[in-house]
Amino acid sequence: VRDPEIIRRVRFALSSPKQVADMLNLKVCDSMRDEVMILCPVHGEKNASCSVRKRKGTISVRCYGCQFKGDVLTLVALTHGLDDRSAFPEVLATACELAGMWDEADAVRKGKAAPEAKQRAPLPPPEPEPDYPPAREVSELWDTARPVTGDPEASALLVSRRIDPDRVAALDLARVLDPLTFRDRLPRWACFKGKRPVSSSWTKTGHRMLARVFDAAGEFRSVRAWQVDPSSTDPKRVPPAGHRSSGLVLANERAQRWLRGDSAPSMVVVVEGEPDWIVRSVLFPHETIVGIGSGSWTAEFAERVPFGSQVVLMTHLDRAGDRYAEKVAESVKHRAQVTRWELTELQ
Ligand SMILES: [Zn+2]
Repeated sequence: VRDPEIIRRVRFALSSPKQVADMLNLKVCDSMRDEVMILCPVHGEKNASCSVRKRKGTISVRCYGCQFKGDVLTLVALTHGLDDRSAFPEVLATACELAGMWDEADAVRKGKAAPEAKQRAPLPPPEPEPDYPPAREVSELWDTARPVTGDPEASALLVSRRIDPDRVAALDLARVLDPLTFRDRLPRWACFKGKRPVSSSWTKTGHRMLARVFDAAGEFRSVRAWQVDPSSTDPKRVPPAGHRSSGLVLANERAQRWLRGDSAPSMVVVVEGEPDWIVRSVLFPHETIVGIGSGSWTAEFAERVPFGSQVVLMTHLDRAGDRYAEKVAESVKHRAQVTRWELTELQ
């Protein structure tokens, strides 16, 4: 077991069933005190039969439809497309971030013990950290994807969020995969499994709208796959299966230039999640806009923020959004003036 003390603390920190379900984008159908019923993230269903319950201070999950059982870390792994055994450190680090335990998250990623945790059993040798998918495969996939305007379902999804598909295509913010692309024509990581017996390709699960994510040097490293079928019970946006997804942000054209070092913007806008990022990028193409999620923002991004600039934080006004805002604000406070938007004009 990797650092039992961190595991224990993060399980106690993420112990509200409703908040955890919301943070992980799981559809809550019925909410009681200390228990919510969600659409099962494993077996795909229309009526909720998966219980997320607080028991003795931590979350326990049980699906009455498919007998899936787990804890909060299982849910984090499932919703992030990570294997909870082979990629356990990344699962734990992601959970720490969701709980606002940034130091612990960094410690886990570096394979070191958290500073506070003192007496522990010696750690086993660290598992190799999953890396980003191969750069060539990522750019090839993006190159074969088409404008969103050519896909009626993807266009409808954007329109339902009051986003103009023509603008998305013109600004090249997202693209779609041909739904008829067979699995063997896609990279192996372009799939979603959850706890299904077999994983399915993104073209089959409906995760076929793609947005690019970039590292702190502005390098195109990976994608986020967006579910276009509104009736699907899968997580709405997923990263490539089995690969690292932390340390990457969504970036509009201006933000890509900034990260590459080709410009020094006087203002950087930080929003949360793909929908907000697309909306903002369509409305304000002249702003420098990055979109973050759990694990996105790192010290490397903070170091790119120009001294004396302004950082506008527009993360969601909920617990997760507060944590993202706090983390970004803390990391740039010595170089930039930070403003947190308390109003959501985007709704
Ligand atoms: Zn189930």
